[in-house]
Amino acid sequence: EFVEFNKFFNRIIDRFEMSKSQNVEFKRYLPENSYFVEIDADKLTQVIDNIISNALKYSPDGGNIRFGVTVQENLIKIMISDDGMGIPKENVGRIFDRFYRVDRARSRAMGGTGLGLAIAKEMIEAHGGHIWAESEEGVGTTVFFTLPFELDEAGEWD
Ligand code: ATP
Ligand code: MG
Repeated sequence: EFVEFNKFFNRIIDRFEMSKSQNVEFKRYLPENSYFVEIDADKLTQVIDNIISNALKYSPDGGNIRFGVTVQENLIKIMISDDGMGIPKENVGRIFDRFYRVDRARSRAMGGTGLGLAIAKEMIEAHGGHIWAESEEGVGTTVFFTLPFELDEAGEWD
């Protein structure tokens, strides 16, 4: 199914912004133009929900969560970044493994199974994209993913 990416992404962000109880500010950096991507909208929603839930889980009071979209040739690149506790360098690569959680005790207190990002990776790769994270302890975490899109589907609809 083809979706207008900004509209799709904004709707998900809106849902979290309306229901959040934490003192966390959402900042959006989305392109002006419309880009149409062919995706399974339900699966992509699940992926983005998990990334945002993680960002919220680890956000400090007064933190920001930034949502960015950039377009490079035939790829759309999405980034979601937080001001949370971050992930030690040696562990960043493993957060996409099944059941992997950085700090068992802390993660158990936070709830969840450690499957969210493993599922996200499977789904993004099934869409022909990539997913990765960059993080610095005590500074924050950014999760990136890409999706291929058709250049001739770019337009300026509503
Ligand atoms: P689930 O998503 O199944 O509810 P989960 O959130 O623990 O459980 P993942 O989403 O796969 O599992 O994340 C794996 C681990 O990566 C987390 O347990 C956490 O340790 C770490 N992690 C993920 N996102 C962040 C983030 N934004 N900041 C800090 N640590 C993170
Ligand atoms: Mg999760």
